[in-house]
Amino acid sequence: MQNNTPFENYKVRVKHAIELLGFSSELADKMTVPQNIVQGDIEVTMDDGSQKKFPAYRVQFNNARGPYKGGIRFHPEADIEEVKALAALMAIKCAVVGIPLGGGKGGVACNPKELSQKEIEQISRGWARMMAPYIGANKDIPAPDVYTTPAIMGYMVDEFEKVTGKSEPGVITGKPLSMGGSLGRTPATGLGGFYVFEALLNSLDDKSRQRVAIQGFGNVGFYAAKFIHQAGHKIVAISDSKEAIYVADGIDPITANALKEEGKKLSEYPGATVITNEELLVCDCDILVPAALDNQIREDNAKDVKAKIILELANGPLTPEADEILKNKGVLVVPDVLANAGGVTVSYFEWVQNVGGYYWTEEEVFSKLRNIMQESFQQTYMLAEEKGVTLREGAFLLAVKRIAEAMKDRGRI
Ligand code: NAD
Repeated sequence: MQNNTPFENYKVRVKHAIELLGFSSELADKMTVPQNIVQGDIEVTMDDGSQKKFPAYRVQFNNARGPYKGGIRFHPEADIEEVKALAALMAIKCAVVGIPLGGGKGGVACNPKELSQKEIEQISRGWARMMAPYIGANKDIPAPDVYTTPAIMGYMVDEFEKVTGKSEPGVITGKPLSMGGSLGRTPATGLGGFYVFEALLNSLDDKSRQRVAIQGFGNVGFYAAKFIHQAGHKIVAISDSKEAIYVADGIDPITANALKEEGKKLSEYPGATVITNEELLVCDCDILVPAALDNQIREDNAKDVKAKIILELANGPLTPEADEILKNKGVLVVPDVLANAGGVTVSYFEWVQNVGGYYWTEEEVFSKLRNIMQESFQQTYMLAEEKGVTLREGAFLLAVKRIAEAMKDRGRI
């Protein structure tokens, strides 16, 4: 059945928002088709001397509110349908947090785990050469995504600048600091998620100490855990791809992270009960934070979720069927397009700093991030309350309204 692909899910959600807003079907048509897709092959001389071609692409979904913005993934199963959905969701995410950017996403079908550094550098430079006519600080601004790093962004900016013959650091974000990267980018998504968590508890007027379970203890999961713990709440469960642990008395994220850095397992955490990742999703907690993979909470396990709030830090961790079950159970879901938008917000700050040639302190970055995340949460929450819809529907309403306004002002609809 094809009706559950990420792109189909996006189309259903956007069309629903357009209907609720009473907008035209012309808008629905325009918001469900990318404006542009660039595709081609990157030719690489492999370390053994052979030549190999890697399919590469960029989907430019919508630029009504500003230049296209979104990551580039290097993945063996990089699939254009999925990238189309991710590009569309970037337009929604940027509009939810009110930053003046559109949506794009790109990729290369390759397996970086089987490639040497030299081969990865050639792919990165090849991508930048192929995309040079289509990207730019005022056109389309890529960034890292799955299996791409600041170092790869560094090669891409360098190659782009060689091709165009001018310095343009704002063409790509997520760069190394030495090339104009922003302070505060590493913790941005987890910290942004924490600011939303704070705003949510304020809106609910809930001052109690929350018990929080986090699936995925990578970049996003670790920083979310760190800031939530620092604010006095209790992290009762965390996990990685190998195992999950539950500690009723609470986990100190810094200690747990130190174990990982020493090459030890999470199960070596003092007093930990080892559980499975499936058990973590339905464990005894107040707030569940999926921060690993998509499609984790589905029709088969949604009914067993005990948390009363889910903060989606991963992209697409809930299926639409799970959404429906959780809504009927009264579980409040803070959607990914809002909760994990801290990353793209600090990417936007990096671009602003590059374009302005003036750089901010980490404190400035954090304080601006907090304002944007908390205000976006309030706007989404109030719209959802006013229309009697879920926060996900509220976020889509807010975003579609903003994108439609820009499309109308441009005379596109
Ligand atoms: P990461 O690779 O740093 O961490 C992922 C974590 O998930 C790791 O701890 C890994 O062990 C764990 N994991 C992998 N498979 C798992 C499984 N089957 N069960 C449980 N845990 C598993 O990645 P990240 O940057 O932290 O991204 C996490 C999620 O957040 C992804 O969905 C990503 O798309 C989303 N996201 C990330 C950012 C960002 O700025 N990094 C921004 C927006 C959204």
